[in-house]
Amino acid sequence: MANSAPLPPGSTIGILGGGQLGRMLAMAAVQLGYRCIGYAPAGDNVAASACDDFFENGWGDTAALAAFATKCDVVTWEFENVPLSAVEAIPTTLLVPDPKALEIAQDRLSEKRFVEELGAVCAPYLRVESDDDFARALERVGTPGILKTARDGYDGKGQWRIASAHEAEGVRFPGQACIYEGMVNFETEFSVILARAEDGAMRIWDSSANTHDSGMLVHSVLPAGSVVESQIAQARQIAEKTADALGYVGVLTLEFFATQQGPVFNEMAPRVHNSGHWTIEGAATSQFENHIRAICGLPLGGTETRFASIDMRNIVGEDALSAHKILAEGGEPHLHLYGKREAREGRKMGHVTRVSHDKPPEESA
Ligand code: AMP
Repeated sequence: MANSAPLPPGSTIGILGGGQLGRMLAMAAVQLGYRCIGYAPAGDNVAASACDDFFENGWGDTAALAAFATKCDVVTWEFENVPLSAVEAIPTTLLVPDPKALEIAQDRLSEKRFVEELGAVCAPYLRVESDDDFARALERVGTPGILKTARDGYDGKGQWRIASAHEAEGVRFPGQACIYEGMVNFETEFSVILARAEDGAMRIWDSSANTHDSGMLVHSVLPAGSVVESQIAQARQIAEKTADALGYVGVLTLEFFATQQGPVFNEMAPRVHNSGHWTIEGAATSQFENHIRAICGLPLGGTETRFASIDMRNIVGEDALSAHKILAEGGEPHLHLYGKREAREGRKMGHVTRVSHDKPPEESA
């Protein structure tokens, strides 16, 4: 799609992946007059209900991927673990952003190296490909630390927390490439979410303070507080350099730990992000809409925060079954349910965003 004219209304956007991010991308695309076609292996593909058509085929089905591609004017993704072999079955002229971003972000080691070269600080880490490597990493990096699979991890999956050398004795190298990294003593976590257009123009949303439970995001709030505010400029600079270095088009997310020593880069996601769900009601333009605008060559929308305080909470597992009761609560709840059939423990089923023109108590004092 390099240097092409904006895609006219009625054009078709292909989305690789069938989860809630794809669903919310498709909803934004439909609002702008586009059609969407999804592609993902058979499963609870909740994006399908927001798409005109949906291919339920495996990532290895190159014929189906080719057939999908012939129906699309542009192809993007909502899931960063789409196998590169599947992406390679799509003509590169259709793919936005460039799959180079996907390749780097799929491997924790390569993403850390890439962003470190641009000036980011990471927690100490070492690659672990054997029992011996693991022993060496424990010795050099020390404890507490986290062993993480280099690939395919998300929402805290593929991670083993190791509090002490004694605890390490009970953890075995899992047989697939990992990194072992030192535990960061952070004040809070935050992410920088930006949208970059084909001509290099960038828009950045305010950063929320993010809380995770067992490695999964559960809660984002704005304003993020003074510690994050004091580190945002530095983190944004890293995020902007990363987007430029990748020639990135679309929404890109970088996650950071705010520490006493400044921002520590954790990981990046070459896609819209859970910590940006608040932008649907809370910002001038949502992350979903700006991703669609960027990949279709439309001008980016403003990213200003529209409220004095915003609170986004994920609805996880069984809580979704009674989530409609949230609508009767105060605080202007904006409820989003993803339509997942099965409410499994630890599964993101929806989210609720509350916005207010009143500052939170500590800010208004
Ligand atoms: P990740 O999958 O790397 O984003 O990790 C998920 C979450 O686990 C992070 O958002 C943190 O809450 C926690 N976490 C991961 N790595 C570290 C670390 N090195 N130090 C402290 N907490 C971490």
